[in-house]
Amino acid sequence: MGYDFEVAVIGGGPAGSSAARRLARAGVSVVLFEKQAMPRRKVCGGALSEQAMSYLDFELPQEVVDWECYGARVTYGDKTLVERLDERIAVLVTRSRFDKLLVDMALEAGAQVVWEAVASLDEGERGVAVKTASGASFTVRRCIICAGANSRFIPKVRPRDGVYGEGICMEGEVDRLSPDPFAHLEGLIDIYFGVAGYGYGWVFHHGTYYSVGVGGLRAKFPNPAKALEEFTARIGLAGRLRDVKGHPIPRGGLDRRLGKGSLLLAGDSAGFVDPFYGEGLAYAIRSGQLAAEAIVGNSRTDMMHEDYRRTTKAEFSANLEYSLLFSKVMYTLPKLFLNTLVSDEKALRRYLYVPLNKLSYKEYLTWLVPRLPVFWARRIFELMLP
Ligand SMILES: Cc1cc2nc3c(=O)[nH]c(=O)nc-3n(C[C@H](O)[C@H](O)[C@H](O)COP(=O)(O)OP(=O)(O)OC[C@H]3O[C@@H](n4cnc5c(N)ncnc54)[C@H](O)[C@@H]3O)c2cc1C
Repeated sequence: MGYDFEVAVIGGGPAGSSAARRLARAGVSVVLFEKQAMPRRKVCGGALSEQAMSYLDFELPQEVVDWECYGARVTYGDKTLVERLDERIAVLVTRSRFDKLLVDMALEAGAQVVWEAVASLDEGERGVAVKTASGASFTVRRCIICAGANSRFIPKVRPRDGVYGEGICMEGEVDRLSPDPFAHLEGLIDIYFGVAGYGYGWVFHHGTYYSVGVGGLRAKFPNPAKALEEFTARIGLAGRLRDVKGHPIPRGGLDRRLGKGSLLLAGDSAGFVDPFYGEGLAYAIRSGQLAAEAIVGNSRTDMMHEDYRRTTKAEFSANLEYSLLFSKVMYTLPKLFLNTLVSDEKALRRYLYVPLNKLSYKEYLTWLVPRLPVFWARRIFELMLP
């Protein structure tokens, strides 16, 4: 059967570029379709965790690193807690630069890139027919859909997420002010609980600008634009945000179908995002790679699907299920549980090992739950002190 390419990857975000690079390095002919010329702005906080970096099969060049983070400052109501580790937990990157770098790495490995939107995708007896917006058509054997949370191609594999399966974020940028009111955030990510339903607000200091945003669960966060306005006013940045954009974000940890026939989903299209704190870059990169490996390692589609489900489950999906449990507990009873995170140094400090991938959510919960009565008793005692 004459295919134009063995595999088509739709979407040149972190999932798509990582999949294309992995396939090209395995000697598979692969074409990557990306609808936007790069570099392009991508609405995102840009926090790239150590776990995410550990998945890259090359050294992250220093010039794409805006800021290095060793800890977090978390605020809930009138309480704020700062906790730093000796080791770095994440770096902040600007997505326009980071995503371009990943596409360049896919090109370097031998992938071909078509800078056009895919307009249609049809599975037939002769493989998958991919048509671009300009009418060019390609026939491929397999296809990985990495076109983000909003992709029109997701329903080729599974139903779209409803209001309980998806979050909504709004983010904008503010040029660094002088004097810098956020200079004290050096080395920290800054999180504000309570400003978004089932989510939070953030200020991520990128050196020359701040990424400021809010994100919450669609069902519990009806007015993100108003929430962002109130949040920016609260932190003294009213009227200063530019390039404000909203974007959906999947709620990870739900049981979703990952593929059908010759099609696989990866990254946000597959729903791989941490439901508690919204990290998606690590899972986008790794799921793209695992989808590529499932294709390389299996000529039969049923085995490809089984392999992909097994490897994603073993590496992070099971952890995302615990994160979903954790987020339900935290956000359903925030006064009880989020308070612990912003009142107890040990509870926050230990949580920071999660983005480091040194602690799973299950391990964190196993540690936290038996200690909760002690935390609460101490808190009641503190409140009773004159
Ligand atoms: C406001 C916000 C803040 C976030 N902050 C963080 C953070 O700080 N850290 C973190 O880890 N995660 C964060 N996330 C999540 C993270 O951005 C996503 O998980 C990640 O971008 C998913 O990567 P992806 O490659 O799956 O999809 P995307 O990054 O969405 O890439 C999809 C690509 O597909 C292209 N595309 C779409 N349709 C087509 C088509 N028909 N044809 C061709 N190309 C197409 C798009 O142009 C795009 O380049 C945030 C998300 C939001 C919304």
